[in-house]
Amino acid sequence: LTKERNKNDYQIFKTSFTDGFKERLTLETELHKAIKNKNFELYFQPQIDIKTKNIIGLEALCRWNHPEKGVISPNEFIPLAEKTGLIIELGDWVLREACRQNKLWQDLGFNKVKVSVNLSAKQFLQRDLVQNIEHILKDTGLDPEYLELEITESMAMSNEKFIIETLKGFQDLGVNVALDDFGTGYSSLKYLSQFPLSKLKIDRLFIQNRTEQNIAIVKTIIHLSHSLNLRVIAEGVENEDDLLFLNNENCDEVQGFYFSKPLPVNEVDSLFHKKLS
Ligand code: C2E
Ligand code: MG
Ligand code: MG
Ligand code: MG
Repeated sequence: LTKERNKNDYQIFKTSFTDGFKERLTLETELHKAIKNKNFELYFQPQIDIKTKNIIGLEALCRWNHPEKGVISPNEFIPLAEKTGLIIELGDWVLREACRQNKLWQDLGFNKVKVSVNLSAKQFLQRDLVQNIEHILKDTGLDPEYLELEITESMAMSNEKFIIETLKGFQDLGVNVALDDFGTGYSSLKYLSQFPLSKLKIDRLFIQNRTEQNIAIVKTIIHLSHSLNLRVIAEGVENEDDLLFLNNENCDEVQGFYFSKPLPVNEVDSLFHKKLS
């Protein structure tokens, strides 16, 4: 019996192992193809000024339109793109597309807003990133003040000297930098005061699970931001209670399903049109 079961266990292990491996290989091959064929689309999620309720920014969020599997979430393909190095090409496309689209909206006469682009770790560590972004801004004609780059704490904590140099490069260009998912990584207060940042983004974990401790953390992050002359935005605002809480605590901006989920370009168009009329 023991022998029998062991054999079966092994069978199960073997099949699931090979399946997972094959699955990953297939996805990797398909990711290569998708990048070549530009099977990606940017969705945009509004960022709202808590006082005026105006849209002041749009976060660009990448979607993979897979011919059979449908829309694949970035949580699935960004880590794979990162591991395989494909993130460099994909990241360049995202940056260029976000800037191009934002400039197009401005040329159509809509209120000017910032577009926020997520950077991955590997992308951030490219030697020529600042130059790349300078080129993209020139090519698309987008004014640098309307571009914001989102980096995470963990990315900011390695290789301090290089990071500061890159961030200074962004600052010289006139591009804004936000620290994403703030509170979930290893934040060092020393870095916060040294890095030229424009904004902290409070991770949605703290907004959605409002324990006594998390409430204290949110209050502290908002105070900290304002003491350091940074703006502060809360992610994952899903209902009116979340909004009231953040308004009470003097948070500057909010983003989340309560206002809007990430939208494809045509739905952002209609949103802007509604604002105009
Ligand atoms: P993120 O940058 O923290 O983006 C916020 C994520 O939270 C988005 O998920 C968004 O759809 C989701 N979200 C927004 N409001 C709410 C809410 O009220 N409730 C809940 N439960 N979720 C909300 P998404 O689009 O699936 O993206 C996941 C992550 O993938 C992003 O997290 C970002 O780290 C990464 N990502 C997305 N696009 C790109 C990209 O172009 N480049 C890179 N490097 N990473 C990207
Ligand atoms: Mg983000
Ligand atoms: Mg985030
Ligand atoms: Mg996140």
